[in-house]
Amino acid sequence: MRIALLFPPAVLPTGPPLGIASLKGWLQSCVGARVEVRNFDLNFAHFEQACRWQSEGRLRMSLRKMDQQTTAQKVKAAVRFFRGEEAGAFFDQELYDEHARIYTGFGSVLNGLFDSFARKLLLGLPVPTLATMFLEELLAPVRAFEPDLAGFSILFSQQLFFAIALAKFLKDRGGPKIALGGATFSVMPDPGRLLGPIAVSGNDGQGSVDAGRLVDYLVVGEGEEGVKALVESGLCPHEDVPGLVYRKEGKLIGNPARGVLDLDALPVPDFSDTVPGLYHSPAPVLPYLSSRGCPWRRCAFCTHQKTYLHYREEHAEVAAGKISRLQEKYGASHFCLVDEMLAPRRLDAIARELIGKNVRVRFSAYARPSGFLPPVFETAHRAGLRLVLWGVESASQRVLDLMGKGTKAREIESILHAARKAGIWNMLFVLLGFPTETKAEWLSTLDFLDSCRESIHALSRSRFLLLEGSSVFLNPGRYGIKRILDRPQRDPVSVAYDYEVTEGLSVEESSELFRESLARLSGAGRSPWFGQFREHMLLYAAREASGSLSSNPPAAG
Ligand code: SF4
Repeated sequence: MRIALLFPPAVLPTGPPLGIASLKGWLQSCVGARVEVRNFDLNFAHFEQACRWQSEGRLRMSLRKMDQQTTAQKVKAAVRFFRGEEAGAFFDQELYDEHARIYTGFGSVLNGLFDSFARKLLLGLPVPTLATMFLEELLAPVRAFEPDLAGFSILFSQQLFFAIALAKFLKDRGGPKIALGGATFSVMPDPGRLLGPIAVSGNDGQGSVDAGRLVDYLVVGEGEEGVKALVESGLCPHEDVPGLVYRKEGKLIGNPARGVLDLDALPVPDFSDTVPGLYHSPAPVLPYLSSRGCPWRRCAFCTHQKTYLHYREEHAEVAAGKISRLQEKYGASHFCLVDEMLAPRRLDAIARELIGKNVRVRFSAYARPSGFLPPVFETAHRAGLRLVLWGVESASQRVLDLMGKGTKAREIESILHAARKAGIWNMLFVLLGFPTETKAEWLSTLDFLDSCRESIHALSRSRFLLLEGSSVFLNPGRYGIKRILDRPQRDPVSVAYDYEVTEGLSVEESSELFRESLARLSGAGRSPWFGQFREHMLLYAAREASGSLSSNPPAAG
């Protein structure tokens, strides 16, 4: 049996995808030689192919105030720059920002264009022949592999239509069984609706597509046990395949999900079908997940906490050992720990193991600003921590309490300050316009950002979105929401809902205030692009804060 694991477009390819690498490692360890597994990062291939076609004049896209040829040259230069092919220039902040602007602009045009092609293809509307040729070329390596099963790993909702359109291409020629899985489905209250008629809207109209004719099954929740059982069953869906959603005699069946309990027993992710050094970063930066779920799980706006069944973690010693093996195998010295959040005791434990094993890496981690004291940062810095991405959200204690964030506004500034003093960069997530928030509370967050500007290296600001599945969505009255507004033909990739409030800023007021606040918000941090390109931010942080440690990894760029 041959299994193709696919990561579909469209996100900007600054690092390799973790989901399919983890699944490949797992399948090889448990089903072994009976099954050949190959990973295809179609997202990366899509961007690379678009650049090539653009240079050859076969694809004709242009950025604002540029012709097609200039756009092609500038995008090529931006990719070269991000790959570190212009000696030392990557760390010139002005040049970086300029290339990031071009690169992001091109990504938006490209992804917008192909999203619209994908929607048209699904609706049976005509698309240019070149678009069909482009997608055929993209899929050629997958077809050549002749898989029995093509499993799409969907991390972001914007990948969904692209994946289903690619599934249509594969199915049109009697291709493999198609499975969709990934974090997006784990947070959907009713993922089974994707095996029936779904609404598709686009610039050229809207309609409905029977996705159940293109997709054979969904794997909801953590994929390992489900995919293994499906493979062992010879791809015949049945009730013992954990997390499988499928149709049987016209009836929709959803099996309960089951996760791997002992994370220590999982093999290291297998990135061998990708070339980490080719991604758009001057040094390979690998993602690594050392725990599943969030140990806090209480933030009312969040749906990430629902991606995994319950919180589990690898022993710190095992995590350090696996990071070391990845470093040896792929020559990567920079890692993004993508655990939902690392508590101080866990960060400290992992740091001590990295130091004890003499693993020379630089890494970033996500955390909640609570309970961190200077000694934890000092140890973590010695182990290679160079960047923490903090869920700050608000400076109003009332809002933080209502969110269930469990942090103390007065403690946050000293935590950021202690991290900076230890040589660690801080990136902050702030969330403005949480239901019931007043204008004064909103402005207090902006004042807070101004007051600790020195300790902020990057800022990711967003306006509150009411996400399906979040606690606010499930208990709206508790958060001053009197009505959730739905649309009859809801496109399955739009996960945010409109709502009406009984107190605080309305949705309209909050969107107006957000626009007004942008000037103040954009002054925070080194680069407005770091929030998007976190691998790059880690490289910058690692370079600036490398100090005189004897454990320095090779410099990037
Ligand atoms: S926002 Fe972060 S800390 Fe809060 S529940 Fe979600 S993942 Fe956990």
